[in-house]
Amino acid sequence: VVPRGSHRPAPSRPLWVLGADIGGTKIVAGLVDPAGAVRARHRREVPSDRDPEGVLRATADCLAACRAEAPEAPRAIGVGVAGQVEPGTGTVRYAPNLRWRDVPLGSRLGELSGLPVAVANDVRTITLGEWRFGEGRGCRNLLCLFVGTGIGGGAVIDGRLAEGAAHALGEVGHTPLVADGRPCHCPNRGCLEAYVGGWAIAERVRELAAREPAARGLIARAGGIDRIEPRTVELAAREGDPFASAFVHERAEEFATGLVGLVNAFNPERVVVGGKIVEGFPEYLAAARRAVAERCQPPAAAAEIRGSRLHADAGILGAAHLARELFAARRRLR
Ligand SMILES: [Zn+2]
Repeated sequence: VVPRGSHRPAPSRPLWVLGADIGGTKIVAGLVDPAGAVRARHRREVPSDRDPEGVLRATADCLAACRAEAPEAPRAIGVGVAGQVEPGTGTVRYAPNLRWRDVPLGSRLGELSGLPVAVANDVRTITLGEWRFGEGRGCRNLLCLFVGTGIGGGAVIDGRLAEGAAHALGEVGHTPLVADGRPCHCPNRGCLEAYVGGWAIAERVRELAAREPAARGLIARAGGIDRIEPRTVELAAREGDPFASAFVHERAEEFATGLVGLVNAFNPERVVVGGKIVEGFPEYLAAARRAVAERCQPPAAAAEIRGSRLHADAGILGAAHLARELFAARRRLR
């Protein structure tokens, strides 16, 4: 169950809680102490068939491993999941990466754990984690962007985590960058994600490498064109491979162009950028800083761009924060 309304500060009484993040390939869970520090972490692979019951059991198992390390019994669980979550019930309506439809995640995890469970979209819990505990702390207007396999985001507007009409606000990866451009995994073409997200990087670098003699070194390093991954490009660029370096530079400029539009639209005081592609390609951050300062409308151009430092803990801390709110809301009802 997701508490509605504003995200109030956590209650002052000491409360241990659990937070988990269910992604497309892995599950991470953490034990969070009353001060909001992650005190234990465990991870499990998402079962390859992504069967809901198997994923639920793996998640419960991961949470139980964290719970076993708690000096005091945790009182609630928060979960972020890569999908569209029905507020109020914690049911996952649609999760394309997990290939789920209508999975009662909150109620099933509640049965398996015996604890109250809050569920929200993972990008929203990560944004909440950055806002409350990370680089977004203290902001009333914050934009978060996470570049992994895809690109997701979240926004705090005037001191509230923005939800959108269908609780789907933050699909920043599907901001069009090129009219009638590269096909995307969404109904549109030319999206930012289809140019600079992890899956697009892999596709584009393989296409380029197939016709570019300068890519010979990169192909040899990967052991074949089809085996070039974003990580291969990252390592080659670090070692000064000219093809890989130019490729990363161009993607960083495209990312920055997309960000200029988002910063103009949202006017955040700060932008937190994270995810494994940004960690691997720090050029994304540098290009974003330059582009926002030079190319945004004057009032929006003051936005500060920071790299995430919480990494995987952002999702755990944001989910744990939801767990605390849920526990506090239940207390008030009694
Ligand atoms: Zn798209």
